[in-house]
Amino acid sequence: MTSVAGTHARPAASDEPPALQVVDLHAGYGVVEVLHGVSLSVRRGGVLAVLGPNGAGKTTTVRAVSGLVPPTHGQVRIEGVDVTGASPDGLARAGVCIVPEGRGIFPRLSVDEHLRLIAPNPRALKGVQERFFARFPALGDRRAQLVGTMSGGEQQMVAMARAVALDSRLVIVDELSMGLAPRVVEDLYRHLGALAADGVAIVIIEQFIHDVLGLADEAVVLNHGVVVARGLPGDISEQLESLYLANGPHG
Ligand code: ATP
Repeated sequence: MTSVAGTHARPAASDEPPALQVVDLHAGYGVVEVLHGVSLSVRRGGVLAVLGPNGAGKTTTVRAVSGLVPPTHGQVRIEGVDVTGASPDGLARAGVCIVPEGRGIFPRLSVDEHLRLIAPNPRALKGVQERFFARFPALGDRRAQLVGTMSGGEQQMVAMARAVALDSRLVIVDELSMGLAPRVVEDLYRHLGALAADGVAIVIIEQFIHDVLGLADEAVVLNHGVVVARGLPGDISEQLESLYLANGPHG
């Protein structure tokens, strides 16, 4: 894809706290620790790619950040404020939007019904609709269509409705590319690039690299619950390749 990295918002001021900062995060399921001290951060208007093979701990990182899995150690800070263990609701109020793996949409609801669910109150609905259809005009004349009957790419657009139609300041997208054609993924990345250009911090979790490295301005690579590489996308792509060659993409 053509890189959209150059379209990002003005750089964050150097004294501005990161939009998201994860420090030495440990978390797991029951007695099994899956994350063994993960640290990462993304600034306002930045795009961070979190990559790694199957089972590396990417989704667990998202869950630990979003309060679904309680961290046993470490910190999650949003714009400098410690939100470790905060509820998903509390995080939403802090401007965090998580687009989960598997899209989190309701197949038997229409596009309009999704927007109604997203609007915090009936008066806000008009603004939500305007912002959503301004980003995704192609869905404008399909508003009554059940989302389950739409293509995978269109469903992913609906899944991104919270991110584009509310005033999210941090958007975390887990495996957006899953099951989608590269051209569709490229288009969705463009939309994320446009959000970043508006100053939103973006974290993209991907197992397969696709063209996310063209969009990201920084990348971290997870394996077995630790960060094994971090840096500029161009610099880590070689390390990433050898990791995938060693493990195979399925870990
Ligand atoms: P994928 O690309 O498959 O989503 P991932 O990098 O997101 O992989 P995680 O889903 O975070 O990896 O899984 C990390 C480890 O945690 C794996 O060993 C997995 O088996 C384990 N795990 C994930 N979810 C649970 C769960 N609900 N209960 C117990 N163990 C889990």
